[in-house]
Order: sequence, then C-alpha cells, then structure tokens
Amino acid sequence: MCDDCHTIDRRTYLTAAGVGATALLAGCSGAGVQREFDPIPGNAQGPAIPETGYLVDQIGPRLHVIMDGTYQVVFLDTDEGVVLLDAPPSLGDKIQQGIAEVTDRPVTHFIYSHAHNDHVGNAAAFAGATYIGNERTAALLDRYDDPNRPVPDETWDEEEELEIGGHTIQLSYRGQSHSDDTTYTYFEGQRALVVIDIVYPGWVPFQGFAAYVPGFVDAHDHILAYEFDTFVGGHLTRLGTREDVRVQKQYVGDVFDAVRAAAREVSFAEATEGVNPADRWASTGAYFDAVTENAVGRVVPAWEDRLGGVAAFAPSHCAAAFRAVRVDYGR
Ligand SMILES: [Zn+2]
Repeated sequence: MCDDCHTIDRRTYLTAAGVGATALLAGCSGAGVQREFDPIPGNAQGPAIPETGYLVDQIGPRLHVIMDGTYQVVFLDTDEGVVLLDAPPSLGDKIQQGIAEVTDRPVTHFIYSHAHNDHVGNAAAFAGATYIGNERTAALLDRYDDPNRPVPDETWDEEEELEIGGHTIQLSYRGQSHSDDTTYTYFEGQRALVVIDIVYPGWVPFQGFAAYVPGFVDAHDHILAYEFDTFVGGHLTRLGTREDVRVQKQYVGDVFDAVRAAAREVSFAEATEGVNPADRWASTGAYFDAVTENAVGRVVPAWEDRLGGVAAFAPSHCAAAFRAVRVDYGR
C-alpha cells in the first residue's frame, strides 16, 4: 500500500471490505487518491447516451423508448395523439424533448406503470392528458395526495384493453410483486411488453428483489407468457429480450438454491456463538447474517461476470430470499 496516496491493491481492498466490493483503489501518482473500477460485464452495457443526456430509440412501428442510462419511458405515437407511459422526475423535460424528435402531436394519454414516485413523479407535467391507472395505483395516489402525481381519470381492475388511434394496448394486473399495483402493459402491434421494476436486462434486480418476493418470482413466468420481442423494464442501460428474462429467472432461482444450501450448512449454535442468548434479535440477526454470507459466497462467483451489480445487491437478494423461504414458502 502506498503511504502517500492511500493506494491499495484490489486484493487488499476486497479483503478489507468483505464480499461485495468491486471498486478498487489504484493508480498511485503521488497526487492523491485516484479511483479506478472493474468494468461492468459486457452484458450490462447499453448503447451510448448522446450529449443531450437521453437516447430516443424506436422499438416498434410506432413505439419509442426514451432512456438516459438509468431510467426508461415509452411512448406510442398514434394519429390521435401520443400515449406516454411514465415520467420519472430524474428525466425532467427530456421526455418532452424526446417526443418532439418524433412527433409534434401532444401527449393525450398517460399510463401509470405503478404509483412509485421515482417513475411517475413528473406525471403532472402532462396536464390535459387522460390519466389511466390501475385501481390500486389510484388508491395509493389518492392516499399520497401528491400534486405531481394526479389521481387517474380512468381506472381498471384486473384487465383492460385500450383502443387509441387505431392501436391496441392491453393492461393487466398479475398480483403483488415489486409493488401492490404493478401493471403489465402490452403494446400488441408493436410486440413490446413493458413491466417496470421487475426484470433488469443485463443487471441483477434491485436491492431486496421486491415488496412481495413470491409474487416477484412468479412474475418472470407471467412475463414470458406474452408474445413479445422487446421487453422494457424501466431500467437500466438497455432494453431486454426474452433471453434476458430467462437469465434473470435463472439468477433468482440460483439465489434461492444458494440460500437453501446455506441454511442446511450453517449451524445456529455456531452462528450465534458469543451472542447473548437473552438478546433474541441479536441471535436471530447473527444467524440470518451467517446464512446470508454463506449464500453470497455461492452466488457472487457464479454470476459476477454474467450480470451487472452482483456484488452490490447479491447480499440483499440472499437476505430477501432467506426471509421468503422461512416466512412465505416454509421450506
Ligand atoms: Zn417501483
């Protein structure tokens, strides 16, 4: 290790930080800390984002995506007007700019993917449009009373078919998963399916998988039941294919296999050695941590070159899967 500029090699850093660290400090120049990082897997890399900060990509005859490398929205350009799905605050007016690259027509319909603010917190910017959302989304937005997320004008329960400007859009509810109100939006003539915050093409899922883990697990099969060529997940660097959904399903299955194997291997007595048995949460926590750590040791080597973000989020995935095994599945 360099005394002057705190440079340590990767092995030292990984040891110090434990499993989960991929960043390394290197490039000692004597002028301070210079960070370099391991590259993300090729599978996680997406198209270059232009200097404007966003990319508009056509994914169907009339369907387009706007993405900035982190968030994605789609819009359907119909003769009647533009149908927009989602408006993350982080995209700001890049949505209006992106749409203007394709058409002069106004946004006449706004579809909520779900109620989460990070995806729809700029919905009010499209005032004048008809807001469409699941009944559960409407109930949540009514509760939050956020002027940036208007309560939908039109709601639906299990299934809805929209006919707008000669195009068919199917909206479906498949139960709790990422959220209580996750909507499946299928653009029939475009062979594109949009389900936000479930499958992350090229990347592992978000921290902790989902609000309701068994519903999240099942969602992969619900998605694959559709006839689609393009999958839009709302994140991150690129769009997806059926293969991306299958790969994530395999990752999730591997996490559960790893957790079950870890649970068989880790002894409660050993994991809680030295912990005050009267402190029930401390012993429970020590045991859960030991199982999670054991599972992470199985998952990370198998997946770190296949998907992005494995080191960052595999610990939370293993913890979530272990909870689901104990509380939901029971085995
Ligand atoms: Zn969400």
